[in-house]
Amino acid sequence: MFSEEKIILKDIIIHRRCESLTGFKCRISPTRLKRGIDPFSVLNPASGVCNFCPERVYADTPVFENKSRITIGESVTFPNLYPFAKVHVVTVITKEHSPEYYTKKQISDALKGQYEALKDKEGYPSINWNNQPSAGASMIHPHIQGICDDFPTYATGVYIRKSSQYLTDRDENYWDKLRENEKNSERYLFGDEIFWSANPVPFGEKEIRGYLPISSLSEFSSYIDDFSSGLVKVIGYYKELGHYAFNMALRFDKNNSDGSFKAFASVIARINPNPLSTSDSAFMERLHLEPVVLTIPEDIGENYRKMN
Ligand SMILES: [Zn+2]
Repeated sequence: MFSEEKIILKDIIIHRRCESLTGFKCRISPTRLKRGIDPFSVLNPASGVCNFCPERVYADTPVFENKSRITIGESVTFPNLYPFAKVHVVTVITKEHSPEYYTKKQISDALKGQYEALKDKEGYPSINWNNQPSAGASMIHPHIQGICDDFPTYATGVYIRKSSQYLTDRDENYWDKLRENEKNSERYLFGDEIFWSANPVPFGEKEIRGYLPISSLSEFSSYIDDFSSGLVKVIGYYKELGHYAFNMALRFDKNNSDGSFKAFASVIARINPNPLSTSDSAFMERLHLEPVVLTIPEDIGENYRKMN
């Protein structure tokens, strides 16, 4: 379901891959791991009280039109003060300012907050997470963000359009086919109804995708617990490998869609916070939209099974 060409330079092999459905491309260059630019140990100090800490969150954040916020377990959900989408909501996940670990309950309560805030909105929702400043978080205190507009984001739009085209052309659901294919691949990690595997054409370093059997956010409610336990496992696996910073995006189609697109989450590892602000997003990622990653996706499956 993807194609690969190899660029061979003496003893260096660069894999250039293309996802057949969408045309999205990436390059995989394991040699670049040798640069060792991502030390394991530099983390933010956990000191201080911020606007998302329990002492301040109810005073410093906006409320919904009904004058309230959504509180589920430790999580608190409210509108983003600085929105970039028609609907843009923030969920503070934990009471703790900079927790070392997340429990499944913390994640599922936060996702339930997002679900409550987004479920009746018209349009194309996604639930997203920047963890750590080097992954784009402006606040260290962990939080997830839901956005919803009348149109999908660029990448989600390509997936939705091409999935519909695929169904029309082949009378077969792309995501059912992909599920079968990935489950039997070296990239498969764990899970059944929601299953997780390394993406063969990664959007970022060690991209792991969680595939859901549903299309829209309105169907998400009964899958939140299962999804959360999977996400906690992926975060734990990253941590074991020394990745503390990551991004996550969980994409949905609009409610009452034709079902040709199925929701999925992408999680990518990002460079850890570091004193020089060394970045892992450069001209290839930002201007050519063709990410360069370091790890071969098939190796992630093998490594995961070894460690678990
Ligand atoms: Zn805080």
